[in-house]
Amino acid sequence: MRDPLHSISVKHKLALMFVVLCLIAFGLGGFLISRSARGVLEREIHSRLVYQCQAYATALDSYLQMLERRTEDFASDGHIRELLHRISGRPGGEEADALRAELGRHLRKNKLPLVASFRDLTVVDRAGQVVVAVHDLGSAQVTRLAVEASGSEGNWYSGVLPAVPAAYREAEGGPGPTGLAIGTPLYDLDGAERIGSLLAWVDAGAWLTEAVRSVSHTFSEGEDQAQLSLRDRLGRRLSVRRESTQSGDLRTAEYRSDPPAPGTAPSGVRQVPPIVEVFEIPANGWEIEVILQVDRALESVSGLQSDFLGVGVVLAVLSAFLMFFPIRFLAQPLVQMEQAAQRISSGEFGSRVAVNSGDEIGRLASSFNRMAEAIQERASRLERSAGDLRSERDRLNTVISSMRDGLLVLDGRGEVVLKNAAVEPLIQLRDTGGSGASRHVCKVEPAPADCLACVFQPHSDQQSCVIEAGGRVFEVHSASLTPDEHGRSGRVLVSRDVTDRINQDEREIHQERLSVLGEVAAVVAHELNNPLASISMFNQMMEAELEAGSPLRENVEVIQRNTETCKKTIRELLDYATGASPEIGPIDLHDTVESIVRFLRPISDRARVRLVTRLEAGNPWVTGDEVQLRQVFVNLVMNAVQAIVDGGEVVLESFDEDDHLVIEVRDTGPGIKPEDRGQIFRPFFTTKARGDGTGLGLSTAQRIAEMHGGGLTLAESSPAGTVFRVRLRARQEV
Ligand code: ADP
Repeated sequence: MRDPLHSISVKHKLALMFVVLCLIAFGLGGFLISRSARGVLEREIHSRLVYQCQAYATALDSYLQMLERRTEDFASDGHIRELLHRISGRPGGEEADALRAELGRHLRKNKLPLVASFRDLTVVDRAGQVVVAVHDLGSAQVTRLAVEASGSEGNWYSGVLPAVPAAYREAEGGPGPTGLAIGTPLYDLDGAERIGSLLAWVDAGAWLTEAVRSVSHTFSEGEDQAQLSLRDRLGRRLSVRRESTQSGDLRTAEYRSDPPAPGTAPSGVRQVPPIVEVFEIPANGWEIEVILQVDRALESVSGLQSDFLGVGVVLAVLSAFLMFFPIRFLAQPLVQMEQAAQRISSGEFGSRVAVNSGDEIGRLASSFNRMAEAIQERASRLERSAGDLRSERDRLNTVISSMRDGLLVLDGRGEVVLKNAAVEPLIQLRDTGGSGASRHVCKVEPAPADCLACVFQPHSDQQSCVIEAGGRVFEVHSASLTPDEHGRSGRVLVSRDVTDRINQDEREIHQERLSVLGEVAAVVAHELNNPLASISMFNQMMEAELEAGSPLRENVEVIQRNTETCKKTIRELLDYATGASPEIGPIDLHDTVESIVRFLRPISDRARVRLVTRLEAGNPWVTGDEVQLRQVFVNLVMNAVQAIVDGGEVVLESFDEDDHLVIEVRDTGPGIKPEDRGQIFRPFFTTKARGDGTGLGLSTAQRIAEMHGGGLTLAESSPAGTVFRVRLRARQEV
């Protein structure tokens, strides 16, 4: 799995994780804790509220029963019963009024003050007519309730009375309490006949105050904050208000036609429905309703969530700050290791990291350093191996490049992998599409159309052929390479320059031919010599007998001259064919050349050719036949002098070359025509006029030079002049 925070550095990641952790621990954890605390609290409050509601209902009921009993006590008062009996017998008149006054006075003085919760006492006759009341005699409400009370069999309770009679309010001042009435039958003194009812007007506030006071000490402050209301059987409602005074809590009841509005929750606190509990007051069938605003009760718990969150934020900030140092000590070494790894990857194998601790990070740094050391050691070992391989490769390359045989290795696509200089002519030949190849001999049957393409073909079978290119002849062998373990194949091609061998073969054939020719020439020369000698002799005899000025003398002279030419040709032919028997010995070639120059100077002067020597070879000594060697240089110098038409220069230079002595004969003549250059060493090839040249000079000189361990070559020839080069094996011991 890929790290979703892979692009963030470790130190920031750690700090971020701690902050998130703190927020989760204290924010989410706090939320859950406070939620569960709130749930527990809500259940607790609810059970307490049930208990409280029950307690209130019980207290109100028992207090109401006590009031009922006091009303019964009043109703059992004989004076009241007697006075009412007497009044009932006298519905009008002064006596009745006096009796009523007496009854009123009695009630006001002796009864009403006895019970604090009673606000008024009213005596009603059998018909439900108000006989006397302490405060409100004329109220329609009293009248109506009096009828209702007198109609009941036993004790009677009224519903919620919205307000006390107006007379009472005037008498007592203020709005006056709301409440209820308790009615109880009045019997005559015998107790046999019901003569009326006694109504006790109860102040609901006082009733509630006294009843609740008896149980409120069992509740805590928070629970006592519950909102109370009373509801009669007709659904009329008294809402209870609580007032704290010096003498204790007072409760007042207020008539409400509408249900109580739920209290408003403190700002910032979620609005939740209040907990409502209802219990019946058995005495009068009313219900007491206890409403508790949960928001207010749970205010402290609700605040816990934001408290936890706040603590989480503060702790996150604090932990991020405190984490700076551990993160630094954790992340810094990692950063250093990363930088060191980058340096190592870029070739700085000596890079190490500082180990500053013995913990996991310290051990990691030590391991990293050991790994770096191992890498460094292996890298240096590889370096050494590479160096060895390089020197091996260089040596191999040197061997390959110094090979006289050409070597070429091609890869599977025919690209050159390895080659040396000796194979270049073949590559050039291939690159120029085979043009320049004047001959190819294929050893494959049947011969392919393109021999070069055949040997360079990477995947063809083993091939061999002979190709001539650029004046050189190559014997070429090529074969496919066996594929290596990576499946790479290729081709190796070996070429050998066999030009010298072929030339040698040709020379031997040539020499063979020459020797046959020499034998023939010797026979011919021998056969011609005698007739020529006779012709010459008789011609001389004829010339001697001719008179001076004879016109035939010129003819005789022509015969004599041609006869001499024939004799000279035959002598040269004999020399060439037989070869003078060599007298081998040490020869200072500089001396030989100087003596030849002195010997030929008269001829060169006549042709206005200057003979120059620059003999600078360190070792002018050779071993050979001086007569033959003189013949070589006489031929070369004479050819040069004869080639120069209108005056010029012939220079003889000598120098050392390896273990050979080289003498070059350079002239300023018109040069040899390109088409003649390949012919001049052939016997009897001459461009000179009949009688001037035999065509045997260069071939004889070449043969002599080769006999002396060297050779004769045409070094250069152009319209500016010609250079012949004579190479002779130098004599090592002088
Ligand atoms: P010959 O001199 O009898 O002709 P060579 O064998 O000595 O026979 O020479 C062969 C030919 O080579 C000459 O006929 C001439 O055409 C040519 N040759 C030789 N040397 C020179 C030179 N230095 N300059 C020009 N042509 C030369």
